[in-house]
Amino acid sequence: MPKRVELHCHSIYSDGTLTPAELVARAVKNGVEILTLTDHDSISGGPELFAAGKAEGLDVRLGIEINCAGPGASDRVHVLGYGIDPASPGFSGRLAEFRERRTVRSKRIVENLRAIGIAIEFEDVRAGAFETLGRPHVADALRRLGVVKSRKEAFDRFLVKGKPGYTESMGPSPAEAIAMIRDAGGKACLAHPQTAGKEPELDELFRLGLQGIEVLYAGHTPTQVKNYGEWAKTKGLLAVGGSDFHGPGTGREEKLGIDYSDEAAGPIMEIIH
Ligand code: AMP
Ligand code: FE
Ligand code: FE
Ligand code: ZN
Repeated sequence: MPKRVELHCHSIYSDGTLTPAELVARAVKNGVEILTLTDHDSISGGPELFAAGKAEGLDVRLGIEINCAGPGASDRVHVLGYGIDPASPGFSGRLAEFRERRTVRSKRIVENLRAIGIAIEFEDVRAGAFETLGRPHVADALRRLGVVKSRKEAFDRFLVKGKPGYTESMGPSPAEAIAMIRDAGGKACLAHPQTAGKEPELDELFRLGLQGIEVLYAGHTPTQVKNYGEWAKTKGLLAVGGSDFHGPGTGREEKLGIDYSDEAAGPIMEIIH
């Protein structure tokens, strides 16, 4: 059983600030034994990830994180996929479609910000993104324009629900996200369950076919780790874990790699792909 594992992180292909090769280098430095890249709605980092893994002798794997939409799910439910076959028919096409919808959403957010007098252009946003667009790139543009000092400030003041820049997510429903991961041969797991709701809402998601839950997470308290761990066990779910590292300058830069020997998670932690 490996000790340090990372099953949830982001690269420049979505809203991270490091390339897949830089993530691999950092993982090696941190003593991580398995690194899974889970960019939002993109698997394009795969070739670079595998090349770097080979060069550095690190066990690397390609996963996905799909941000969902719909009642109760918008910006709350993110589904992680592990062990997917990237060449599975329709899989990468669906992701491309989600990315198109993200572009539409980002344009709407820019319009909302312009409506309150902020001189931001969609091009400012796109210029800072490599592939998948999202609110973090709007936040980065606001930072470059001197409106805010950090991604966090941009979210707090403009980009979360109830703030003037917000528009609803245009991602797939949780049912669609789960089905497409399973159809591609993968395991669908709920990311950061604390954002998705309480037990009744989570049970509803598991009825849709979710197979696992993020138990170890950089943002979890020891009590949350223990509770989600017990929950995974009693409900027969896979327990997975990662840091949700996004790279320097993102405010989501907890140490890359999670200690899988964490006692609180119990003996159930599985490396599932
Ligand atoms: P989007 O995919 O456009 O809905 O944006 C969601 C992403 O924004 C998440 O995956 C996080 O990486 C990032 N995010 C959300 N809240 C914050 C925050 N307060 N500070 C920095 N990044 C955030
Ligand atoms: Fe993110
Ligand atoms: Fe997420
Ligand atoms: Zn994430």
